[in-house]
Amino acid sequence: MSSRTELPVCETCGVQFDRVDPDECPICTDERQYVGRGGQRWTTVAEVSASHRTVVREEYPGLWGIGTEPTFAIGQRALLVPGDGGNLLWDSITTIDDAAIARVTELGGVSAVALSHPHYYSAMVEWSEAFGDVPIYVHESDRAWLPRAGNIRTWSGDSLEILPGRTLINTRVHFAGGSVLHWPGTDGRGALCTGDIVQVVSDRRWVSFMYSYPNLIPEHPDTIRRTVALLENVTFERIVGAWWDRVVEEDAHGAVVRSARRYLEHIGVAPGF
Ligand SMILES: [Zn+2]
Repeated sequence: MSSRTELPVCETCGVQFDRVDPDECPICTDERQYVGRGGQRWTTVAEVSASHRTVVREEYPGLWGIGTEPTFAIGQRALLVPGDGGNLLWDSITTIDDAAIARVTELGGVSAVALSHPHYYSAMVEWSEAFGDVPIYVHESDRAWLPRAGNIRTWSGDSLEILPGRTLINTRVHFAGGSVLHWPGTDGRGALCTGDIVQVVSDRRWVSFMYSYPNLIPEHPDTIRRTVALLENVTFERIVGAWWDRVVEEDAHGAVVRSARRYLEHIGVAPGF
């Protein structure tokens, strides 16, 4: 772990910053998040990692999840997505400890980190540094949200293959840089790792698309149509969302199209597809 685990971490969003206004987390004062009850509170990666466990377990055969127990801040878990050229760490969490680093090392380590959107930046630089300062891919549209220095590589355009078989797609849902990750999977049937950009909902045959989840602000119809169009020729049987077990197990591409159509019909807009 880096010696900078004492840098400030927001308790509500779990993001680690180089420096902060003590009264204000820039992520949580944005309308897509919220300031916790009782006002702004800060902690550190070291403190949270000491009071929580960082767990590494298979989300399903061939795909490993990395999460925090008990849950902290937004509560997302990261994914270790394998392939030629090494593992990609998809999204991040706030905690990191020696046991988790050792387990991930046994699983092949981390060759690159990529983020779906700023709410999951968490301790991404700590994770990158723990595996040799590997590159961290963030879409350039979200550059203004970068919370601290690190081996950041901004990328541009609609898609980019960052490791063999692992391709980022910028849907612009939730954040302008909001992106998902396509992976052929170990079985070749394809999976889309989405964070909450394409959100796997409680009925796991469906997904949704929101500008803000905590404040229930819907995503714009044009962005949803654009997402459906971007994914039209992308093959994936599964969608793996941001939390443990939030997985659409089959016909996930169909689920995106059906869910987008249902969403647009509910807000009174003709789907157009
Ligand atoms: Zn925050």
